[in-house]
Amino acid sequence: MGESHVIIVGGGVIGMSLAWRLTGAGARVSVIDAGAGAPPATNAAAGMLAPSFEQSAGPLAEALYAFSVESLARWRDFAPMLERDAGMRIDYRDDGILGAALSEAEEEELKGAFSPLKARGASVEWLSPEEIRAREPLLSAKVRGGFFAHDDAQVDPRRVLAALHRVFLEAGGAFIAARATSLATKNGDARGVTLESGETIEGDAVVIATGAFAQICDLAPPVFPVKGEALALDMTSVPFARVVRTKHAYLCPKAGGRLVIGATEAPHDASLDPSSSRVEALKRAAIDAAPALSSCAELERWAGLRPGTPDGAPILGRPAESPEGLFLALGHYRNGVLLAPETAEKLTSLILEGENASALGAFSPGRFEPR
Ligand SMILES: Cc1cc2nc3c(=O)[nH]c(=O)nc-3n(C[C@H](O)[C@H](O)[C@H](O)COP(=O)(O)OP(=O)(O)OC[C@H]3O[C@@H](n4cnc5c(N)ncnc54)[C@H](O)[C@@H]3O)c2cc1C
Repeated sequence: MGESHVIIVGGGVIGMSLAWRLTGAGARVSVIDAGAGAPPATNAAAGMLAPSFEQSAGPLAEALYAFSVESLARWRDFAPMLERDAGMRIDYRDDGILGAALSEAEEEELKGAFSPLKARGASVEWLSPEEIRAREPLLSAKVRGGFFAHDDAQVDPRRVLAALHRVFLEAGGAFIAARATSLATKNGDARGVTLESGETIEGDAVVIATGAFAQICDLAPPVFPVKGEALALDMTSVPFARVVRTKHAYLCPKAGGRLVIGATEAPHDASLDPSSSRVEALKRAAIDAAPALSSCAELERWAGLRPGTPDGAPILGRPAESPEGLFLALGHYRNGVLLAPETAEKLTSLILEGENASALGAFSPGRFEPR
């Protein structure tokens, strides 16, 4: 199916990573994206690539952890290739993430996360309060201990999305700014999508990668919005060296003196305005972790909608009772940036070669469908 025309609905980090990978594999690709009416969660993300701190408790915990670690490993090539091809920096930093406990209860919680990581062979190291503050001197004297995940990393997701747009267009991809409303079928097969304007874009395969806005094209995958708020401070006067995570806030230093602080979680809330009380609570939690931040000016606050699923794992592949040629790439919840390279790789094989269904089996849409 090397010459096929693949239509991807949704130009967030998942849709665009897949689009770039598919063009690299020789496919003709069109991305349809609704733009401002449905802003991508990707631009709201902090950009942590953090399997060590994002272990899920659901039935797919092991499969998801393995998928996350594979995707983190893919970022090591994906990031420099994207920077080279796009001719711009995406602020990829693979200098680890520090988890810090500010109370006895938090210390117990972190120890509970640390042990299974150690057992799985992750490169993690338990640190004393002195060792933590030696790595990040701006942290409060309240710090009781924590761990360092050597392999966890981060990027700037807004730069990643801009770079993906650039490389996709340069590779000959077509980007259509429009809202898709329904799936076009022929003899029971997916043959394109119809836009709000009534125009139909025809293709051989259709991928739905619409993030939290998944109830489109007569599909009803069990994806729901989980609103997340965050803010950025100007850290020029208190330069943080690396990502620090505490129970109530994480701090992600970015290029240009920006410190991103996140994030709240409000399931089933689809509003896009940041709530001032929740953002203020987040800011207080950050200052509690690093008191010097109280002198930093606020640069920006925002909200985005994570694509949540009932078991916290993504929905990837072909729905069972659906037209041939229809694929889902949805539900990446808290970790779409982390999971984008591996999602793109596996779906490219599935779409172009029909293979790898087993590799995606754990995340197949069929797990939510009646048998
Ligand atoms: C505050 C916050 C912090 C986060 N931090 C991290 C983090 O540190 N690390 C991490 O890995 N992840 C993080 N995430 C999660 C991450 O942002 C998401 O998992 C990821 O962005 C999902 O990408 P996506 O491409 O599936 O969806 P999106 O980025 O939401 O993109 C979906 C696109 O589909 C388009 N669309 C929707 N409906 C239609 C339609 N009908 N027709 C055409 N186009 C349509 C939209 O316009 C949008 O551009 C965070 C999220 C939030 C909110």
